Amino acid sequence: MTDTKTALVTGANKGIGYEIAAGLGARGYRVAVGARDQARGEAAVKQLRDAGVDAFVVPLDVTSDRGVAEAAHLLDRLDVLVNNAGIAGPMGPDWAQDPTTLDLDVVRAVVDTNVYGVIRVTNAMLPLLRRSASPRIVNVSSSVGSLAWQADPTVEVGPIMAVYAPTKSYLNAITVHYARQFAGTGILINAVCPGLVATDFTGFFGRPPQEGAAAAIRLATLPDDGPTGTFSNDDGVIPW
Ligand code: NDP
Repeated sequence: MTDTKTALVTGANKGIGYEIAAGLGARGYRVAVGARDQARGEAAVKQLRDAGVDAFVVPLDVTSDRGVAEAAHLLDRLDVLVNNAGIAGPMGPDWAQDPTTLDLDVVRAVVDTNVYGVIRVTNAMLPLLRRSASPRIVNVSSSVGSLAWQADPTVEVGPIMAVYAPTKSYLNAITVHYARQFAGTGILINAVCPGLVATDFTGFFGRPPQEGAAAAIRLATLPDDGPTGTFSNDDGVIPW
């Protein structure tokens, strides 16, 4: 087994996930690049290696029970898991998703990726994480999942996104339950909002992905007395 701390980032072939992988690699982590498409994963690994990062690809579609189990078998060590992979589902003009006309098949697909995908991957990776001296899990969420902000008319939370936003509320909720379950085990698990980041996800509107990755990297590298069961962004704690 390698002596080097190893991090798995899901959906690391591009966007925020790629920059989280690059940032952890620059901090000395060996990085497993989770990618549902082998070729896209290998292209990202090549780019990371060219930048001096110890990276390798792990084929990983978070919606596949079998694929996730196989990914866990490919790893000999795991210290950090970043659940980053996520989708928004189809959006109307200005990113709107109207709750009164939802297609339940679409809802299921987005929940399967953004929520069940996180549970699937986390639980499959737990035996490896439990062997780490300082296990960390980061769930990449979004401030649009804040029920407190969604319900406060004085807070600008953007358009009604009735498919995507509730998946992040659910992700935040399950993060709290994991944190309670992990109490006393040394596993720290936190949810984070990267802010509005210029990626495929936003039509490249927002701040650079390197900036969006910073908060997740901070939580992935927390000291042993760091927080757990929190939801935050660069500015601090976000209300549930
Ligand atoms: P991108 O669309 O750039 O990247 C998403 C990544 O997730 C891609 O690597 C994609 O793979 C992967 N992915 C999607 N579905 C699956 C799946 N089933 N299995 C494995 N991988 C999958 O988006 P961002 O980098 O912007 O988003 C990353 C995370 O940040 C998401 O969870 C998103 O909700 C969150 N977020 C983003 C914000 C933003 O402003 N960009 C704001 C708040 C939160 P592929 O290339 O194969 O499609």
